[in-house]
Amino acid sequence: MEASSSAPVTVRVPAKVNLELRIGPLEDDGYHSLSTVFHAVDLVDHVTVRPADSWSVTTTGMGEGTVPDDDDNLAMRAARLIARRVGTDEQVAIEVVKNIPVAGGMAGGSADAAAALVAVDALWETGFSPRELQEMAAELGSDVPFALEGGTAIGSRRGEHLVPVLSRGVFEWVFALHHEGLSTPAVYAECDRLRAGQSIPEPAPNSALMAALRAGDVDALADNLHNDLQDAACSLMPRLTDTMTTGLDNGAIGALVSGSGPTVAFLCADRNSALDLMVGLTASTICDEVVSATGPVHGAHVVHDVRSR
Ligand code: ATP
Repeated sequence: MEASSSAPVTVRVPAKVNLELRIGPLEDDGYHSLSTVFHAVDLVDHVTVRPADSWSVTTTGMGEGTVPDDDDNLAMRAARLIARRVGTDEQVAIEVVKNIPVAGGMAGGSADAAAALVAVDALWETGFSPRELQEMAAELGSDVPFALEGGTAIGSRRGEHLVPVLSRGVFEWVFALHHEGLSTPAVYAECDRLRAGQSIPEPAPNSALMAALRAGDVDALADNLHNDLQDAACSLMPRLTDTMTTGLDNGAIGALVSGSGPTVAFLCADRNSALDLMVGLTASTICDEVVSATGPVHGAHVVHDVRSR
C-alpha cells in the first residue's frame, strides 16, 4: 500500500430493485437459495471517507438517528474489513448521506458497504483487483456485490453470484416509501409460513423477463415483474396491497414490492406517467413518501466532482 492521500474520497452508490425474486425451499442451514434479477436505480447514497485518529460513522438524511453509528453499521464493517486485508492501523471517519430508505427492501445498508469498500480502496490506493473487492463484498453480505457492479444482473445462490443481463433502454420508476420498516428475516419467516406444505421448485430466471430486458420492452417488463416475498410482505403489512392498487389506478403499468419490502416499486411507461403517478400517490396519502428514479445505473463509483452530489 502506498502512503494515504489526505484528500477525502466520496463514492456514489445506487439502490436496487429486484425485477424478479424467486425463493427456493428453506435449506438445512436456515437460508434459501434464490434466483433474482437485480436492477440498479439512481436513488443514491453518498459515502465519504477521510483519514482520522479513530473509527467513526455518521449518517444524515434518510433514517438519520436510526442507522447504527458503530461496528454494526455495514459501511464501518466494510472499511474495517479492507483495513484488516491491507494490514494497516490507519483509521477513517465515514460520512453517509442517505437517500436510500432504511430497512426498505432496497439494500441501502449493502449499498453503503459497497461504497465504503470502493472509497477506502481509493483513499489508501490499495491496488486490490475488482475480483478481490467482489470477494470482500460477498463476505460482507449477499446484496453487496451487486451494489459494486450496478446495471442489471441475475443473482443466484444467496444473490452474491452475479451474471450481467443484456438490457436496452432506460426505465422510469416511482417508489412508494413506508417509514415503518420490515425486517428481512421476518418476511422470509412469513414466506416459509405461507408456503408450508407446498412443494417449492429450485428457483430459476424467467426467460420472458430476459427477453423483455433485451428488447427494452417496458410493457413486457411490467408483465413479468415478480416477487416471491410479496405475499409475505403484504401479509405482515396489509397497507402494501392498497399502495399497489392505488399506484396501478394512477397510471403505473407494473407494481411489485421491492425485495423484502415495504417499499413498493412502480414501473411507468415514460417520464410524464411517472410524474403523474407521483402526484396521484402523494395526493392519496397511502404511503409516507414518494420518489422517482431511473435505471439501470452504474454501481459504486468515486465522485470526482462533489458538486454533482
Ligand atoms: P435488504 O434489501 O438488503 O434486505 P433493506 O434495504 O431492507 O435491506 P437496510 O436499509 O440495508 O435494509 O437496513 C437493514 C438494517 O441494517 C437497518 O435496520 C439498520 O439497523 C442496519 N444497518 C446497518 N448499516 C446500515 C447502513 N449503512 N444503512 C442502513 N441500515 C444499516
